Amino acid sequence: MQVINDRAQEFIALDNRYGAHNYDPLDVVVARADGVWLYDVNGKRYLDCISAYSAVNQGHCHPRLAAALIEQAGRVTLVSRAIRNDRMGGFLKKLTEVCGYDVALPTNSGVEAVETAVKLARRWAYDVKGLPQNAAEIIVFANNFHGRTTMAISASSQPEYRRSFGPFTPGFVLLPYGNIEALRQAVTPNTAAILIEPIQGEGGVIVPPDGYLRRVADLCREHGALLIADEIQTGLGRTGDLFACDHEDVKPDILVVGKALGGGYYPISAALASRDLMELFQPGEHGSTFGGNPLACAVGEAALDVVIDEHLAERAREMGQDLRERLRALQSPLIKEVRGRGLLIGVELHDSARSIAQALLDHSIVAKDTHANVLRIAPPLIIERGEIGSIAAALGSVLSAR
Ligand code: PLP
Repeated sequence: MQVINDRAQEFIALDNRYGAHNYDPLDVVVARADGVWLYDVNGKRYLDCISAYSAVNQGHCHPRLAAALIEQAGRVTLVSRAIRNDRMGGFLKKLTEVCGYDVALPTNSGVEAVETAVKLARRWAYDVKGLPQNAAEIIVFANNFHGRTTMAISASSQPEYRRSFGPFTPGFVLLPYGNIEALRQAVTPNTAAILIEPIQGEGGVIVPPDGYLRRVADLCREHGALLIADEIQTGLGRTGDLFACDHEDVKPDILVVGKALGGGYYPISAALASRDLMELFQPGEHGSTFGGNPLACAVGEAALDVVIDEHLAERAREMGQDLRERLRALQSPLIKEVRGRGLLIGVELHDSARSIAQALLDHSIVAKDTHANVLRIAPPLIIERGEIGSIAAALGSVLSAR
C-alpha cells in the first residue's frame, strides 16, 4: 500500500478543501519532473506512463522548450489578434509544413480546436455544399472523447459525461466505431462531416480494424462530406507515425492537434485545413483572445522541432513494439489483451485498472486507468529501452501478487 506521509497530505488537503472535485486523482503530489521522471514532494521518483494524457511526448521540462519559453517570456507574451506579433507566422509556417496543410487556425485547448473544426465543417456544408441552414449533420462515434464543452459532450455517448448537462447541441449522429457498414448506411445528403479519432484514447485505446480509416476517408469522398481527424491525443508521434492517420495514408480535410503541440509547457492547439476551406471563416467570425499568442507560438515551434529533430515518431514505434511484446510475454491470466500503436498502449485486464494503477505506485510507476478495466500506458516518447523493461517488470510483479 502506498504510504502517504504528512507532507503529501498537506497538499492533498489543500486541493480537496479549495478545489472543485471534478477529478479523482492518484495521490502522488508532484513537485518536479525531468524527462520521463516525476518527483513527488518527498523526493520519491516515479516513471511517468501518463505523459499528461500525451501532452508531454517530448519529456518533462525539455531544455529546448524551457529556453524557448523563457526567452519569449522576457520579450512579449500577448498582444491579442487585434494586432500582429512576430512569432505567429513562423510557428504556423512550421506547423503547416510539418502537418502538410495550407493553413492553420491557432487555438488554446484541444476542445476549442475541435469546436473550430465543427464550425468550419458546418460553414462549408451551408456555403459550399449548399445544405439548408441547420440541416448539417456531423457523424461521430460511440465511445469518443472530444473534450468537455457542451458541444463536445453533445457528441458523446458516455452517460457520465452528459448527465444533467442538457440541453445538448443538435446535429450529431452517433454510430458504432470501427463498423464501416453501419457508416455506409448512415451517411445522408445532410452529412457535413465525419469526426473521428483514428485511435480512441480515452475510450480505452481502441484501435479500429485495419483499412477502416481508409474506407472512412473514401466514403467521405464518395458522398461529398469532410473528414475531420481529432489527433489531439494520437498526433505528433505518439502512435509511431507523425499522425495516426498516416498509418493508412489518410489525409483528413481538417486535422485537429493539441496536447503535445505545447510540449507540456503551454496549452496550444490548432485546426488545419486547405486555404479554400479555411477562408470560409471571415474576419470577426471566429477566434479567441489567447490563440496565436507569441508565447504559445514560441513554445509550439520548439515543441515541433523536438518532435522532428529527436525522431520521436520512430522512437515511439520502436519502443512501443518492444513494450507491447514485453507486456504480452508476461502471460498473466489477469491480462485480457494488450493493444495499441506506438506508445499509446492499452492493457485490458480482468481486474480493476484503478487498483492496478494504485499498486503500480509502490513500484514507482504512474499509469492511469481509462475505463474500468483498461490501464493506459503512454510514457514520454523519449523513453529508453531499460525504462521500458522496468514498466513491464513492475506490471508483472503487481499482477503476480494478486
Ligand atoms: N480530443 C481528444 C482525442 C482528446 O484526447 C482530448 C483530451 O484528452 C480532447 C479532445 C480535449 O482536449 P482538451 O482537454 O485540451 O480540451
